[in-house]
Amino acid sequence: MQVISSASEMTEFSQGVRSNGQSIGFVPTMGALHAGHASLVENSTTQNNITVASVFVNPTQFNEPSDLHNYPRTFDADHKLLSELNADIMFYPSVEEIYSDEAPKKYELDGLDALMEGPNRPGHFQGVVQVVSRLFDIVLPHKAYFGQKDFQQLTILRYMSNKLGYDIEIIGCPTIREPNGLAMSSRNIHLTEEAKNESLTINRTLVHLREDLLRLGFEPAKNTAIKTLRSNRSIELEYLELVDPKNLQLATAESEKIQACIAAWVGGVRLIDNMRVK
Ligand code: AMP
Repeated sequence: MQVISSASEMTEFSQGVRSNGQSIGFVPTMGALHAGHASLVENSTTQNNITVASVFVNPTQFNEPSDLHNYPRTFDADHKLLSELNADIMFYPSVEEIYSDEAPKKYELDGLDALMEGPNRPGHFQGVVQVVSRLFDIVLPHKAYFGQKDFQQLTILRYMSNKLGYDIEIIGCPTIREPNGLAMSSRNIHLTEEAKNESLTINRTLVHLREDLLRLGFEPAKNTAIKTLRSNRSIELEYLELVDPKNLQLATAESEKIQACIAAWVGGVRLIDNMRVK
C-alpha cells in the first residue's frame, strides 16, 4: 500500500487508473480505524480494481474546538489495518493540502440538516459536504462508501453528490456493532468500561422501540423510548427522532418507513446510533 499526502499526486494517480479503464472505490475516514471502517474498505476492495482510503481529521466539521483537539489520531495502527485490508492507497493529506485555495461555500441541503445533528452541531454538515466534495474532486472515484451509522450524513451526501452532479455511486454500508450491540465509533476509545455498559441502553432502546411500534403504536412507543433513556442517570439524551429515511422529515403513525435516530452523551462522550424500526 502506498501513502500519498499530496492532492495533485493523488489526482494524477487516479487519472492514470481511470485511463487504464480501472475502477476506483473510495472510503473517506477521519482515522482511528475500527471494524466499521474495515467493512467499508472490504466492500470497496471486492467491488473495485483500486481502493483509496483517506485519513483526514477535517477541522471544518467540528463545532467544538475541544472535540477536534481530543479526536484520536492513530496513524501507525490505521496504516497497518489498511495494508492488511489490501487498500491500494492511504490518502493522508495535511489541512493545507485540502483547503489551500478554497473559500468556504454555503451549500444548500434542502432542509436535510434542519433537525437532529443539524441544530445540535451548527456548521457540521457544511463542513462534511465541503470536505467530501473536495475529496471527490481530488480522488475521482467511481464509487464512494459511507456507513449507515451516520445516517443523516449518508442521506445528505447522497443529496449533495447528486445536486453537484458527481458521477459517483454512493454506497451505504450497514452499521458494525460490538458483540453487545454498541455501535462501533472512533469516540468509543474515550468510554470507560462503566460508560460502555451504560451506553448499551441506546441500542437496546432502539431494538425495543421497533417491537413497541408494532405492539403499542407510534406515540406510546416513542414516549416509552424517551422515558427509558431519560430514566438512566448516566445518559444525557440530546434527541430521539423518528424520521422518514428518504427525506428525514419527521415520521408519523402513518409513515410507511421509519428510521429512529438517537444522540446522547455518556460519560462525557457524544454517541449517535440509529435503526430502521418500521
Ligand atoms: P469517521 O471516521 O467517523 O468519519 O467515519 C468514516 C466512515 O465510516 C463514515 O462513512 C462512517 O459512517 C463510517 N462508520 C463509522 N462507524 C461505523 C460503524 N460502526 N459501522 C459502519 N460504518 C461506520
